[in-house]
Amino acid sequence: MEGYCPICRKVISLSHPLCDQAEKWFHSASGKKVWRIRQLNRYAYEYVTEEEYNAMQEHSSLILSDARSWDDFDGSTFTGIDCRGERTSIFSNTP
Ligand SMILES: [Zn+2]
Repeated sequence: MEGYCPICRKVISLSHPLCDQAEKWFHSASGKKVWRIRQLNRYAYEYVTEEEYNAMQEHSSLILSDARSWDDFDGSTFTGIDCRGERTSIFSNTP
C-alpha cells in the first residue's frame, strides 16, 4: 500500500524510503494514536494523529473510504497496536 508523506505529500511506502520530514513526523507521533485514512477518490492513504483526525472531522465534511487506527505508535518500527490488540505495521495491507 502507498501513503502520502504527512508533510510534503510525496508518496511513501515500505519500498520507497521516507523523506527526512516524514521520518521526523513519524518519530514525533511515537506513543500517540495514529490513524491511516483514505479519503474518497484519493489514490493513497494519509497518516494523521488522533488530534489531527479529530480536527479534520470538525472542520471539514470528511468522506472516508477507509480508516484504521493504531494505539501506542512506535516511530522507529512504524508499528502500533491494532484493533485486534496485536502490534502490526501501519504500512500493512491486512484488513
Ligand atoms: Zn515528505
